[in-house]
Amino acid sequence: MTPQRLAIYKALIESTDHPSAENIFNCVRASFPDIAIDTVYRTLSTFSEIGIIHVVEGYGEAKRYDPDTEPHHHFRCTRCNKIVDLHGDIFGKLNIPRRIKQKYNVSNVKVVLEGACDECLG
Ligand SMILES: [Zn+2]
Ligand SMILES: [Zn+2]
Repeated sequence: MTPQRLAIYKALIESTDHPSAENIFNCVRASFPDIAIDTVYRTLSTFSEIGIIHVVEGYGEAKRYDPDTEPHHHFRCTRCNKIVDLHGDIFGKLNIPRRIKQKYNVSNVKVVLEGACDECLG
């Protein structure tokens, strides 16, 4: 792993808000002023291919990255675009209707709650 790649990974695990490539680029640029945003995109795509990070499902915007590869759920603030982790089994215990189970083999349930966060409401 090159120092640049390491810095990209560190920036990701130290953030808690599921940053975009651009967020990570701005963060890593402080230590590596010469880094190109393409390097960040390529590195993130390699990381997700080898499974050490996840890509958060798209919302028609810039991809967001998640260093937590354990199953968990998300709350997304529709005002400030913050994505917060939600842990706890209850979200995964969705009662999937039989007609869906007959048609699809569901292997994973991810719940995304949307709304306004406390900071946006405050
Ligand atoms: Zn918010
Ligand atoms: Zn997450």
